[in-house]
Amino acid sequence: MASQDLLDRSENACELCSNKAGLRAHSVAPHQDENPDHQVLVCEVCATELQAEPLSATHWMCLQGSAWSGFAPVQVMAYRLLSRLTDAWALDLREQLYLEEETLEWAQEGLPDADAVATVDSNGAALADGDSVTLIKDLNVKGGGFTAKRGTLVKGIRLTDNPEHVEGRVNKQTIVLVAAYLKKA
Ligand SMILES: [Zn+2]
Repeated sequence: MASQDLLDRSENACELCSNKAGLRAHSVAPHQDENPDHQVLVCEVCATELQAEPLSATHWMCLQGSAWSGFAPVQVMAYRLLSRLTDAWALDLREQLYLEEETLEWAQEGLPDADAVATVDSNGAALADGDSVTLIKDLNVKGGGFTAKRGTLVKGIRLTDNPEHVEGRVNKQTIVLVAAYLKKA
């Protein structure tokens, strides 16, 4: 449910893409309350696209308009989404945005740490949760009693706290894989 304040502010339209179907309030992390100053009104399409991994650059072209909203929670959402898109227009747009210091701090909370070391495969390509990879060498699975053959496809990997390791399921077992011995599929 969206509060009347939120509906009034947004003129009953999605604050990200202006659609009017399936409107709902989205609390902008880390806030979880019903205060409109911490919420954005989103449509059903945006609500779905927010969960998509990776984000749809096509859908989020709508930010070219909405990123200029005068409302802090909308600015924060736009800033975070733009930070996760790699297209040139998104980078340019984020550079152009001007956020009040307080809003910028909020926007940057929860974004990946720029200093964090990325997990990369044997070719230096960044790996992310949910990626599929192939093994580039035979892997003797200690304790598993089998060898995962070179070329084995591993779907839906998970990153770990260690940038050199990912987890994946091989032979129905979750095992740790060395990122340097993987190739993004
Ligand atoms: Zn929308």
